[in-house]
Amino acid sequence: MSDNINLVQELLRQYGRKRSSPRCLLKVDFKKAFDSVQWDFLANLLRQLGFPAHFVLLVMECVSTASYSVAVNGDIHGFFLGKSGVRQGDPLSPYLFICCMEYFSRLLKLSSQHDNFRFHPRCEVQGITHLAFADDALLLSRGDSSSVHCLLQQITLFGKTSGLYINPQKSSIFFGGAGTTQKQSILTESGFREGSFPFTYLGVPLSPHRLLASQFSPLLQDLKSSVQGWIGKHLTYAGRLELTRSVLFGKVQFWLNIFPLPDVVMRNIISICRNFLWTGDIHRSTSALVAWKSICLPKSEGGLGLFDLRARNRSFLGKQLWNIHLKMDSVWIRWIHHFYLSSGTIWSIQAHHTSSPLWKAIISVRDLLLQHCGDSESSITLLNSWSAGVGPFLSHAYEFFRPIGQAVSWGRVVWEQWSLPKHSFILWLAVLGKLRTRDRLRFVPPDPNCMFCRREEESHGHLFFACEWTCRLWVLIKSWLRIERVMQTLASAIRGLRFQRNSLVARMKRAALSITTYLIWEERNKRVFDGRSREISAVFRRFQILFYTVFHFHEKDHFLLNMG
Ligand SMILES: [Zn+2]
Repeated sequence: MSDNINLVQELLRQYGRKRSSPRCLLKVDFKKAFDSVQWDFLANLLRQLGFPAHFVLLVMECVSTASYSVAVNGDIHGFFLGKSGVRQGDPLSPYLFICCMEYFSRLLKLSSQHDNFRFHPRCEVQGITHLAFADDALLLSRGDSSSVHCLLQQITLFGKTSGLYINPQKSSIFFGGAGTTQKQSILTESGFREGSFPFTYLGVPLSPHRLLASQFSPLLQDLKSSVQGWIGKHLTYAGRLELTRSVLFGKVQFWLNIFPLPDVVMRNIISICRNFLWTGDIHRSTSALVAWKSICLPKSEGGLGLFDLRARNRSFLGKQLWNIHLKMDSVWIRWIHHFYLSSGTIWSIQAHHTSSPLWKAIISVRDLLLQHCGDSESSITLLNSWSAGVGPFLSHAYEFFRPIGQAVSWGRVVWEQWSLPKHSFILWLAVLGKLRTRDRLRFVPPDPNCMFCRREEESHGHLFFACEWTCRLWVLIKSWLRIERVMQTLASAIRGLRFQRNSLVARMKRAALSITTYLIWEERNKRVFDGRSREISAVFRRFQILFYTVFHFHEKDHFLLNMG
């Protein structure tokens, strides 16, 4: 899929030039693509494609027994059988549709053999007439009436045989270097409208010009509307971290895979994610507790293990570089070798100022590698080691490009798998000393003293271990869990736990530490913000409940693991 996008981006480069030979690109839209396929056609097609007769019979059985019921006011009334279409949502449908499009591809290939057909510039060598992915199809030819006529004829033929007609009102033509009369006659014959750049193909905007930051707005808008949907849901830090990681970064990754993202776009993405993580909103209302670049470090280096956008982007580009080096079999890479690498290799070629942003970015990643390794041979050895090493190429590449932090010894204790994520998150902040305790506030509050004892200044050291109130809580918890170790600071508590293996006891002790830290912070906030306070026995009771919850949740796993 990204291959198709990459190739379109390269072909579009010439569309912005004043003097170029005439060319055009037809973006066709199929009417109700999934539900208008004729069954006779489909059965015939499958037989022609060489599927065994019995298989075709089974497929047609599945397709043609689809029945439709009509829901009126919530009640289902009768059912009737369909005559055409493959069911949307049926797992078989996409495959059948691909078969139909394969037939369409062959028709277009045939049209290219017609005497009146001229290929789109730079497409003749590989015989490219179209780029299709599911029902998103782009047709390419020279920008003259007779070539476009050949394509249109095949579109009509395809419609008649398959039942898949196109929607002229929703289809468009993009011209480069074509004269006005030429354009007009093509538009009249096709009934399409003339398209303008950037246009959306496979969900991303494409344009002959460098994409401006504003053209990445579909991505930014998408991120913002996701966040908007989560506002007011009372998510914890840990919940927001998980949504950032799985949803927001998931969306970003799709784009990182295709485009070299401009710096300003990356900054915008980071600002949306950062504000959501720390405030649960899009707009910034408080400053971040931990710097974004620290968050993007792995957990073993004190971060939250989110990926660094630039490094991730470079990893994808590195993968493209490697595919180009290997001459992977894809239409885009064959094209690159023919037009960009006819006079040199990927290791020696220079980017031209008119080259596409993608090509320039690949060359600049190559330069980074050359700079690091010294020469092309060592660079190839390095890339080869990523490719042959254990685990995917991209994770090795990411390790190479990512910023490196200082290893921390507490990662395993803080991110103990048995601890609840929201407890771990608070423990993480406490270990970093980043909770907003009163000694750290920019404006000194009228009363900087600890909310528990009211005698000493509130700091991380005081709050979690030194305060007499917390000491009493620890005594209760330690005697209940039969822990005899003396722990006077968070650091010493962690030191005692980090070397222990993953035994049941060690895991439960780590979970106990994160629960206690969380409860102390929760109780402190209740007193500061709500003016409510609980007895120490009530907090201890809550500890016991949380501890049992964690224990019951995991003990089965533990015993099963140890039996196996
Ligand atoms: Zn105190």
